Amino acid sequence: MSIFEQLSSYDHEQIMFCRDDAVGLKAIIAVHNTTLGPALGGTRMLDYPSEADAVRDVLRLSRGMTYKAAVAGLDIGGGKAVIIGDPAMKTEAMFRSFGRFVDSLGGRYVTAEDMNTTVEDMGNIRRETRWVTGSEAAHGGSGDPSPVTAWGAFHGIRACLEVTYGSPDVSGRTVAIQGVGHVGWWLAKYLHEQGAKLLYADVSGKRLSRAMEAFGGSVLEGDEFYRAEADVLAPCAIGGIINPRTIPMLRAPIIAGGANNQLDDEKRDGEALATRGINYAPDYVINAGGLINVYSELKGYGRDKAMLDAANIFDTVKRVINKAKVEGTTTVMAANRVAEERIATVHHLKRVWLAPR
Ligand code: NAD
Repeated sequence: MSIFEQLSSYDHEQIMFCRDDAVGLKAIIAVHNTTLGPALGGTRMLDYPSEADAVRDVLRLSRGMTYKAAVAGLDIGGGKAVIIGDPAMKTEAMFRSFGRFVDSLGGRYVTAEDMNTTVEDMGNIRRETRWVTGSEAAHGGSGDPSPVTAWGAFHGIRACLEVTYGSPDVSGRTVAIQGVGHVGWWLAKYLHEQGAKLLYADVSGKRLSRAMEAFGGSVLEGDEFYRAEADVLAPCAIGGIINPRTIPMLRAPIIAGGANNQLDDEKRDGEALATRGINYAPDYVINAGGLINVYSELKGYGRDKAMLDAANIFDTVKRVINKAKVEGTTTVMAANRVAEERIATVHHLKRVWLAPR
């Protein structure tokens, strides 16, 4: 498929190839959709097997950002960037040069941290452009997003409980958390404070001990996570864990956690969960707290405001699950439709004359 055919198939607005041989920069910026606002999305650095793989990745990820922002009700569009290369070879000059390319888009694309990029890299980009988020909290930035991501996931879990049991109360409910790293630990904290019983699965003994010491609970080994007699399974580790191997093991009526790409195949596994009557909070809906956090940075950061906005994930998750039931579809499809409907509505607003602001 040609590049333009790929852009058409995902309905992208723009793609920019950035090259600066002197500093070893090869980057691609994809702007998917700016109907709702500037395209916001992180910059990922990876040694892609081929340029075609990098193009595919940046197009797929930037489109995902459009949906994530739209369903979260934010005034931003979707974009993403990839830098092709070994993260071990990154330099200040490479990120400064990349920052100049970002600047050339005049705010149509705003970047942030992503896989293999750091606060320090964002600092180097910031030397060349203001269209970057993700600086340290000490410098007025939004800092570590995981407390906000977990707070959104906590409210998403409450929404699932309400839909499933008629009450959002987590006290006395059992939640099994897979991965007690950044997001999982904060989620455990919020749930523990509200009286939930906790079960943990993690490949790191150190992380497990830290959670057990702080909040009590018990540990699940291997596949016990999937078989857990819990009210909620909260995946907060890796992607692809809900698949044809694990779905038959599931006993919990709810899957709601912060991890990205929880379903191995959105359509196949989403349908299998719906058939089993399991309420699945789509990952990109329930983990939007991280995006809400960097979005707040654009507006003049305040952690309290970001937390307040992340709590709205309660309403969004409820809306998506109820829409899926009414329309007889999966929660992922329902979330996609919520996003598409919002973009279409804003796109078709009556074009009245507006005085310059
Ligand atoms: P993290 O690396 O801090 O924590 C991940 C935890 O999962 C670690 O404790 C790790 O030991 C554990 N783990 C890894 N493989 C595992 C496995 N096979 N089984 C059980 N446990 C395993 O990462 P994080 O920042 O907490 O992110 C967790 C997930 O949430 C990721 O999918 C990430 O993409 C997603 N996410 C994070 C944020 C954020 O704000 N950090 C925002 C949105 C989405």
